[in-house]
Amino acid sequence: MESMSISSSSSSLQSRLFLTRTRTRTRSRRSISAVPPLSLPIRRRRSFSTLALHRSDHDVVVVGAGIIGLTIARHLLLNSHLSVALTDAKLPCSGATGAGQGYIWLAHKTPGTDTWHLALRSKHLWEELAADLETQGSDPGEVLGWKKTGSLLIGRSSEEQAVLQERVNLLSDAGLRAQYLPSHLLHLEEPELDVGSEGAAAFILDDCQLDAYQTVSFIQKVNNTFCLKGRYAEFFNDPAVCFLRSEKTGAVEAVQTSNRTLYARKAVVVASGAWTGTLLPNLVKPNCVVEIPVRPRKGHLLVLENFRNIRLNHSLMEVGYVGHQNTTTLGGVDLETTGDDQELTSISMTATLDVRGNLVLGSSRQFCGFSREVDESIIECIWNRAAEFFPALKLTSLDSSLNKQIRIGHRPYMPDGKPVIGPIPDMPNVFLATGHEGSGLSLALATAEMVSDMILGNPTKVDPVPLSIHGRFSCNL
Ligand SMILES: Cc1cc2nc3c(=O)[nH]c(=O)nc-3n(C[C@H](O)[C@H](O)[C@H](O)COP(=O)(O)OP(=O)(O)OC[C@H]3O[C@@H](n4cnc5c(N)ncnc54)[C@H](O)[C@@H]3O)c2cc1C
Repeated sequence: MESMSISSSSSSLQSRLFLTRTRTRTRSRRSISAVPPLSLPIRRRRSFSTLALHRSDHDVVVVGAGIIGLTIARHLLLNSHLSVALTDAKLPCSGATGAGQGYIWLAHKTPGTDTWHLALRSKHLWEELAADLETQGSDPGEVLGWKKTGSLLIGRSSEEQAVLQERVNLLSDAGLRAQYLPSHLLHLEEPELDVGSEGAAAFILDDCQLDAYQTVSFIQKVNNTFCLKGRYAEFFNDPAVCFLRSEKTGAVEAVQTSNRTLYARKAVVVASGAWTGTLLPNLVKPNCVVEIPVRPRKGHLLVLENFRNIRLNHSLMEVGYVGHQNTTTLGGVDLETTGDDQELTSISMTATLDVRGNLVLGSSRQFCGFSREVDESIIECIWNRAAEFFPALKLTSLDSSLNKQIRIGHRPYMPDGKPVIGPIPDMPNVFLATGHEGSGLSLALATAEMVSDMILGNPTKVDPVPLSIHGRFSCNL
């Protein structure tokens, strides 16, 4: 079924997400990026000629309505005169975005790395958005699920103490308000947390959180205000299938979806998250080969609705999370893998209360293709891990009397830990924005700004070179 321009409440999106189960599996690892020059004569695919009636014309076509695609559309609509079409294989929030815990954090980002300035800029843009809402008389808590709780990165051993102290020094030197809290001071901040006498935390006072469903709902509303002006159209349950090229120049002219042809006068943006690795080769074939090593990294999140048994003042994460990019952990739990990829399934404790008083506990990381199956053993492990930090949870059993939801999403994982943002070589009007792994909500607004600036030919606020596709995967060429 195809739908266009839906206006969904966050809760209806959520219930649809939980009902969806996809059994697709991706076995192979994507690797190699190679873009041979466009030398072959290019022909439009005949099988789609009957879709000419479903043609529409836009300045920019965005593929993928996760947080990245939605915010790119929003940024272009608010900051240019361009018209935008957004298309998704399913619905907004059906990808990783719907499972996101909502941390808009710098606590686990490292100054000096290639993504630091993007993270810094994006956090600033989120804060600006929350402040703007307030100025306009809206409550950012109600609109975005926004909370400025500060973040606690916590550890329980002397080894982790040293890591946390170093992190506080690094972040303080970079200008952030960061404090090292030894066990007794941490207890004052978060009385229900038990980290033992060797425990400690890095407390980043200005870190924030949002609710992914509320935020997506807000962005959709903003985008849809441009429908009447003829500048915005969204097409859901309508997957992109291939690009159509100009017969004269070979340039990408349109995105062919299952149901229509979306012409793009200025640019096409591929923001299809973890699916980009498998989708992109199909979009560009048969004229060239582009492979980006994005892989789905499955995550489970446990949400306990209206959970009153513990109170939290801040959002928390165990310091082991920081090492997850390389599947190594300091703290956290590593489980036997059941996936084809033979990497460890790992779990790090994350905990927060959202604006509605739900306790949100995370999270797992697992390479097992695009499976949406709920693994109850992982949920149990998330719960047990949280109980190691919050003894009060041991008094409650995770049985059916608790009102719980399980969210599943596939983080777009990149082996080098950086998103890919920028034009595809030899296809200057086709832009990629993917690979944000566990930070796509945090990084969305600066990514959207960067892509928009590239399309508009403006200088970018953050250096895009380390994030570009150019030379990035050269070792695989
Ligand atoms: C458990 C968990 C917790 C997380 N917590 C946080 C957090 O606290 N903070 C944070 O910053 N990040 C967090 N993340 C990461 C964040 O959710 C992701 O990085 C982000 O959602 C990625 O957004 P995206 O738009 O790139 O991808 P997605 O949200 O996956 O969107 C991609 C979209 O592309 C669509 N698509 C696929 N194929 C096609 C096609 N052929 N045609 C059209 N559309 C297509 C999909 O249907 C999907 O809607 C978490 C992730 C998980 C799983």
